[in-house]
Amino acid sequence: MPTTFTKEWDTPAYKGKTSFSTGLFIDGKFVDGSKGTTIDVINPTNGQLITKISEGLEEDVNLAVAAAQKAFDTTWGLNASGPKRGELLWKLAQLMETHKDELAAIEALDNGKTFDWALGVDVTFSINVVKYFAGWSDKISGQTLETDEKKLIYTRHEPIGVVGQIIPWNFPLLMLAWKIGPALATGNTIVLKPSEFTPLTAIRMCELIQEAGFPPGSVNIVTGYGPTVGAAISSHLKIEKVAFTGSTLVGRKIMEAAAKSNLKTVTLELGGKSPNIIFNDADLDQAVNWTAHGIFWNHGQACCAGTRIFVQSGIYDEFLEKLTAKAKAIRVGDPFGADIDQGPQVSQIQYDRILGYIDSGKADGAKVHLGGEPVGSEGYFIAPTIFTETKPDMRIVKEEIFGPVGVVIKFEDDDDIIKQANDTVYGLAAAVFTQNINRAIETAHKLQAGTVWVNCINQLHANVPFGGYKQSGIGRELGEYALLNYTNVKAVHINLGHTL
Ligand code: NAD
Repeated sequence: MPTTFTKEWDTPAYKGKTSFSTGLFIDGKFVDGSKGTTIDVINPTNGQLITKISEGLEEDVNLAVAAAQKAFDTTWGLNASGPKRGELLWKLAQLMETHKDELAAIEALDNGKTFDWALGVDVTFSINVVKYFAGWSDKISGQTLETDEKKLIYTRHEPIGVVGQIIPWNFPLLMLAWKIGPALATGNTIVLKPSEFTPLTAIRMCELIQEAGFPPGSVNIVTGYGPTVGAAISSHLKIEKVAFTGSTLVGRKIMEAAAKSNLKTVTLELGGKSPNIIFNDADLDQAVNWTAHGIFWNHGQACCAGTRIFVQSGIYDEFLEKLTAKAKAIRVGDPFGADIDQGPQVSQIQYDRILGYIDSGKADGAKVHLGGEPVGSEGYFIAPTIFTETKPDMRIVKEEIFGPVGVVIKFEDDDDIIKQANDTVYGLAAAVFTQNINRAIETAHKLQAGTVWVNCINQLHANVPFGGYKQSGIGRELGEYALLNYTNVKAVHINLGHTL
């Protein structure tokens, strides 16, 4: 029997209690992994153990797929009407609302993001996403089509079946909501793997999924490592579709596994190195505020973070001065502390990786304009960092750092900046700051990115598609577009008198 994780919080941000199973969630039950092994879940604020959770392995993925297939064939899939699916998703959103403080506290504990952000952004947005897709559940419809022949032809958007979903650690609950929302709204059953670094909100959600009344097997959550559970999902012969959010490196492995197994369809939400362009005619103070948010939001652990900050020469000095003051004001500390803006990075591995990038920037000759060092003696805290005097081929300019590190680059003219901004293998997002509407639109259209923000940054909505150009991904999440990932289109021809 899996153990239970229990904790009482008594912090300035949150006072409350949580208690939930630490097992795998398969066929509506919490179970141990097949070998009885566990994974340590570490608190990034102090490096100490939070709890141990069950470790899933390939055999557990097989059990989860069998449970998901059974549910698809009997209680979900074509057996659950759109209104019914919508009702259950809505119930789930209501339960998340009831437990929103607890979910935020678990997220802050496990991931290191501040409680306030976890509550105001992650949990709130997750609830909105589940509600949004609840609304779609009874609106999944095809078309009727006419031809020259006497036929009734119509299309159906049918669920695919058992789908695999693999998610990262930067927005653990939110990525789960982005994934399960459209999959359940369209009638699929799910085998989902959270990140081994941040599995706790996903496990807590299993109880809410159960309480909402989803049939056993419709959602299965198998915690475990990427090369075991993740690989088993992406190569499984009975999983017809896999949706992945994470690094471009692992995205390639998922595609390879899909290609080598059953050619399952693959959607990928991958990394980024997004440009943020500030023209001379921008509203300077607003551009500074948004830019700081663009890099330092979620401790820089955002795929769409505007980390390449291009500032036109006429305002460069003033902009840099104001951005520096803004970054210096960021209060780094305990995610549950009062007035804290930035908690620790998620793990020792990420912490080492980010400091490695900072070292590479220094070694390559870039100037550390601000920060560039750890904060405190325990936990994985890193100071907000700004590099200047960079060159285009430096690693800190080209590669995704996924930490609170931005590079500020001076540019001269409009044509040149488009070339520089697009000079990346990524294409997830971009931002433009200008008060000239023509320049804004022209630049937005020339940028190779799935999202372009004008005079804002890092804005996401349940009904607006999100995804990447180039090596930032395949397919779109959120909005109506997300539904396309989870349905097969069937054309039905009914002969009404067309003879041979
Ligand atoms: P990661 O690629 O290391 O891991 C993501 C998930 O894949 C985890 O659950 C991990 O266990 C699993 N995994 C690892 N190896 C695997 C394998 N061989 N087969 C199958 N699964 C495997 O990414 P991460 O470090 O958790 O997250 C950070 C990355 O995610 C960044 O690159 C970031 O840009 C990206 N991201 C993208 C979006 C987006 O919407 N585009 C959103 C959030 C994060």
